[in-house]
Amino acid sequence: MRILLQFPEGLKREALKYQEKYEKAGHEVFIASAPCYGACDLPLDEARWIKADKIVHFGHAKFVKKDLPIEVEYIPYNIDVNLQAIKKAAIQLKQYKNIGLATTVQHLHQFEDMKKLFESQAQHVFADKGYWAINVGQVLGCDSLGLKAVEKKVDATVFVGDGMFHALAIDFETNKPVFVIHPQTGQLKQINEDINKLKKRRKGSILAAVNAKTFGILVSTKVGQFSLGAAINVKKELEKRGKQAVILVSNEIEPLPLNNFMLFDCYVNTACPRMIDDTEEFGKPILNIDMLNEAFKIIDSMKER
Ligand code: SF4
Repeated sequence: MRILLQFPEGLKREALKYQEKYEKAGHEVFIASAPCYGACDLPLDEARWIKADKIVHFGHAKFVKKDLPIEVEYIPYNIDVNLQAIKKAAIQLKQYKNIGLATTVQHLHQFEDMKKLFESQAQHVFADKGYWAINVGQVLGCDSLGLKAVEKKVDATVFVGDGMFHALAIDFETNKPVFVIHPQTGQLKQINEDINKLKKRRKGSILAAVNAKTFGILVSTKVGQFSLGAAINVKKELEKRGKQAVILVSNEIEPLPLNNFMLFDCYVNTACPRMIDDTEEFGKPILNIDMLNEAFKIIDSMKER
């Protein structure tokens, strides 16, 4: 079988090992080299060009819900957490009787163990799955709905994971504490202030969009991010409000080639929703559609006055 292997950036160094494994099993192996940040980003074009029979995607759970032109196998890449270190952090959170708990896909195999750490302190643990995050207790950079679903039942939300990318997906409305536990060191951090800063920045982009005249609407052809219908709708809505709008299509959305147009006051993003956190790199406000709808409300209310 002709197989195309795809690794996220952090696993690319494993490529040779897996190539050998699949070749030994009698397969013809190719490796996708373009950047890959999630299972939303499958190398369908590369697979078509090389006439692959199958894509093997490492490190993420299934994401794309639509039918694909090729078989895709998802291989998890489990990384153990340090349960002793997490236990120490859990002790510091003992006063919260009801906990919403989640982690990233590479630690999900120990989700039950982590849950038990809290339960052994007589705490109740709540977890659910999201829309894109298909496993109970899983958070993606674009999906913390599993935690949002249990928010009303809990006294605190706890995310076990490294770095702030996934942690800051927890951006739903809550007046309860949100904590991050580092999976190896057990370092505990409350991140409500970080979430509020992010929201303030997004609010700034919404206000900037109200006065912007020209909009670039960003569409990515990555299979799990492609949203042309939404982009066409956004263009119509902008034009209804007297704004000029252009739909810009590319696979990888990069600030530099976009800014070379030197035409747009503002971008509307229909691709990975976390791109909006890179406002500085884009040099212009960049809004997701829900944020644009907020801007529309302001524009419409100004007209009514
Ligand atoms: S859409 Fe963005 S946040 Fe969601 S899986 Fe893809 S890269 Fe990650």
